[in-house]
Amino acid sequence: MIETVDIKVGYSCNNDCYHCVIADKRRELLIARGTADRSTEEVMQLIEEAGRDGAKNIVLTGGEITIRRDFFEILEKALATVQTVIIQTNGRMFYYEEYAKRMATYERAHVTIAIHSIKPEVHDWITGSKGSFEQTTQGVRNLVKYGIKNRIGGKLVISKKNMDDLTNVIMLCKELGCNSLNIAFPHAMGNARLNFYDCVPKYSEVKDEILKATKKSVEIGLHIDWEAVPLCFLPGYETFASELRLSEHTRLNDLTHTDENYSISRKTRAKKKGPQCKKCRYDLICEGVWGDYVEGYDISELTPIQGEKITDLRMLESFKIHPVQIRN
Ligand code: SF4
Repeated sequence: MIETVDIKVGYSCNNDCYHCVIADKRRELLIARGTADRSTEEVMQLIEEAGRDGAKNIVLTGGEITIRRDFFEILEKALATVQTVIIQTNGRMFYYEEYAKRMATYERAHVTIAIHSIKPEVHDWITGSKGSFEQTTQGVRNLVKYGIKNRIGGKLVISKKNMDDLTNVIMLCKELGCNSLNIAFPHAMGNARLNFYDCVPKYSEVKDEILKATKKSVEIGLHIDWEAVPLCFLPGYETFASELRLSEHTRLNDLTHTDENYSISRKTRAKKKGPQCKKCRYDLICEGVWGDYVEGYDISELTPIQGEKITDLRMLESFKIHPVQIRN
């Protein structure tokens, strides 16, 4: 049974991020088709298909969905079709109070907003859009002001530009009123591939900041999770890996292709581990690193952890402070 359907509504965006994974596809689609966006009808059809297949959740993403004229129409259709809708956005449109006010009224809609630094000049540099930090953070404040409550989370993509700023962004998210923060290691596609050695750090370069930031999140009570960070870089905090919380069956409706079970292809094709991982106690539960990381860097830094193989997440010490849903 499909649990989640991830629909890319189009690649148009009001930011141009340094780490953007779809920038190359946007350029190609614009050249080939003259548009990088789906029509309203195409998006509605995908939502209906998700409903027919019994999906519980729809993730709506782009590009930037909130700049579409039909944004609320799409959102309402998705809410009428499934239990929960997650909007992934840079949040800049919520700088406009009427927009934020309306968004906050949809009780089963969750919003994930990208915040890449606490320094306006660094965030703006990463997004390629001057003033975006001001608009994004004010967007979060507006959504909180109009009652979005615990349905708002932050999203940070790590790069060499912000890798020392992770703890600070955790504190900023807490201060702004976010309920959570997802911190993702960059997936080197699109612009991140073009800028690989300027953009993608080595895990060993971020290791200390990852631990410092995780400890801070526990101290201040902000739920965080780490995306594409292998468990050997989360010692004592293994259950903070976002992969342990993802849907077991996600269909990905990208503009260029549909992946009927991205949950499986992510684990078996997109992610890679080293031969040394066979000896690791986390081998059965760890996804490893993005394949493009292996193309760019030596992965001898992945260090097998000794001990009894983990077969049940409840065996992990960090389960007590950061539990994970246990599935049959
Ligand atoms: S050594 Fe390999 S299996 Fe073990 S935690 Fe690291 S990446 Fe995962």
